[in-house]
Amino acid sequence: MNWMHSCKRVAELLSQRLDEPLGLIDEIKLRLHLSMCGNCSHVEQQLEGVHAATADLFASGVPADDEAPQRPAGRPAGH
Ligand SMILES: [Zn+2]
Repeated sequence: MNWMHSCKRVAELLSQRLDEPLGLIDEIKLRLHLSMCGNCSHVEQQLEGVHAATADLFASGVPADDEAPQRPAGRPAGH
């Protein structure tokens, strides 16, 4: 058995893992690769960051207040 996934395979598994749990062997091989490959470790962090941000967005439903200071321009109130 080959215990090292290719970086391409790791990227596939990382994205697949966001939707469904991997098998034990794939999970172990993935962890093994990530522990030795800084590049794929970085990809994992990015993917999980995106996933968390997306989940957060769906959970809250609305953007943060300081993210959307959308007021109609050209109509100064109380002038
Ligand atoms: Zn890699």
